[in-house]
Amino acid sequence: MTSFKSLGLSEQILKAVTKLGFQIPTEVQKKVIPKLLKKNTDLVALAQTGTGKTAAFGFPMLQLIEHSNKITQGLILSPTRELCLQITNEMNLYSSGIKNINIVAVYGGSNINEQANKIKHGAQIIVATPGRLKDMIRRKYVDISNIKYCVLDEADEMLNMGFYEDIKSILSNSPKGKYSWLFSATMPPEVNKIAKNFMNEPTEITVGTKNSGAKNVNHEYFIVSASERYDTLKALVNINPDIFACIFCRTKIQTQRVADRMINDGYKAAAIHGDLSQSQRDVVMQSFRNKKIQLLVATDVAARGIDVDDITHVINYQLPDEIETYIHRSGRTGRAGKNGKSVIFLLKSDKRKIKQIENKLQKKLTLLEVPSSEKIFHSKIFHWIKEVKNTTFKNDLKNHIYEVKEAFESFSKEEVLKLVLSREFNSFNMNQEEVNLKNQNKSDRRIGRRSLDQKINNKKDRRIGRRSLDQKINNKKDKDRFFINIGLIDLPKYKKESLKDFLKSFLKLNHEDVFQVEVMKNFSFFSTHKNHRNQVLKYFDNLIVNKRKVNIELAKKDKEIFFKNNFKKKRFNSKSKYKKN
Ligand code: ADP
Ligand code: MG
Repeated sequence: MTSFKSLGLSEQILKAVTKLGFQIPTEVQKKVIPKLLKKNTDLVALAQTGTGKTAAFGFPMLQLIEHSNKITQGLILSPTRELCLQITNEMNLYSSGIKNINIVAVYGGSNINEQANKIKHGAQIIVATPGRLKDMIRRKYVDISNIKYCVLDEADEMLNMGFYEDIKSILSNSPKGKYSWLFSATMPPEVNKIAKNFMNEPTEITVGTKNSGAKNVNHEYFIVSASERYDTLKALVNINPDIFACIFCRTKIQTQRVADRMINDGYKAAAIHGDLSQSQRDVVMQSFRNKKIQLLVATDVAARGIDVDDITHVINYQLPDEIETYIHRSGRTGRAGKNGKSVIFLLKSDKRKIKQIENKLQKKLTLLEVPSSEKIFHSKIFHWIKEVKNTTFKNDLKNHIYEVKEAFESFSKEEVLKLVLSREFNSFNMNQEEVNLKNQNKSDRRIGRRSLDQKINNKKDRRIGRRSLDQKINNKKDKDRFFINIGLIDLPKYKKESLKDFLKSFLKLNHEDVFQVEVMKNFSFFSTHKNHRNQVLKYFDNLIVNKRKVNIELAKKDKEIFFKNNFKKKRFNSKSKYKKN
């Protein structure tokens, strides 16, 4: 068995390897690390996502640069801001045993002067997205004329995203004698072009078969019409209550729409796409990593390279044009030896694509049937039982257990279970009703989709939402009021109404459990039932928005009045000032 030590890594790096808990090197690490350490060479390495490419270039780069020299010696280019931050983070972990090393991330959408400042203090390694780096070179904030090593990570994607010209311009500012290491999951012609035009007899390394998907991913598909996609998605999620999925759509609008509908229907979902601000994207990604969001609806570009472990399903809500893109998508799951599923919602007109994918993967795809309502129902009960069994008894209820016991003294265990189940059953029944309504829709084509959904939602509101909401609001003793330092300025793309939904979706509660949300400029108030207090307070632990820690606390009545008045006053003042001028 090959060990990290036998690859020729220094003590400092081996220490970090132990700290990281890496036991044995991955295939690509085994092949790449000794090559780069032994001899200065250009390199093209092809390996699937999740195979440990970051360490394959990161370890050698950290070992080969001169730590005592402050000038920039290593450059790592990556397609997206998320990936750029992820690589910087990994590199910092890899270099935990090395003194005096400075790794700086350079990416768009964030303050350029702050980044320039960090570089001024000496950055031996810069991790950058092409657009921002080009800009910083032009403004002379960054000098890459002395770099020795240049990594093009996820090269296929950078080129897909149209960075060819930027990369060309960046490389023209770098010295001829540097060594370039290109990493990619696939080898489309554009990547070949880069290798040919900018590299010198690169060593080629391929791990696994070229362009093939990860081994432990099962590929499955439903045949649906466009209008059946959403219901199929819900059925799939309902039957897999522990799902942790990335759902791919083709456009930003579709991505947002699917996420909004899921949130509205009470799922823990969020969208990520290029129209969101940086801070919104950060919040979404952090929540997904922490599993506060179960369903991340994404465009290909926004999700690219994101390394989130444990994704159980990749769902192709819409198939991409390129089979390569499908392969990338499915690489988000089945990582680190775990099993994953890549599910396609296939339109009949796209049937021929199945063969193409099968050919590419050298694997058969399995046709699935949309689960029946009966099956979904069964799965929900099963999940509920599991959740109940996993509940920890809250000690503060200890004194009440006798009251409850006494109240049910004359009931058998079965009778109690029946009653508890029937109470829970209400919501299951709701779903059954939804299914029935939707089936009705199929036979009655005249009813538009929207009006049907409205009907369902209205029904929901009337039956459970409204009633329980009113009860909650009226019963002041039972509710907690919270203050949170997130407001419209933090998430500028949101209107007041949708920020309400945003806050609701971030709490690990049902949609209707968060109420009386009042959104202000830079803070908000909301209420929940008292039972949820600890959950809510804990929930926002360690969450960072716009580089500041989210602060949540129980709102005091006088504080709330003060804040709200102050807020109004400020607005009034600024208006009157404006008039005077
Ligand atoms: P890629 O760039 O090929 O998509 P990453 O470098 O992002 O893959 O690595 C994927 C995950 O595997 C990361 O969480 C990383 O920390 C982990 N990893 C990398 N190398 C090893 C290893 N030798 N043993 C265990 N985990 C590893
Ligand atoms: Mg990578």
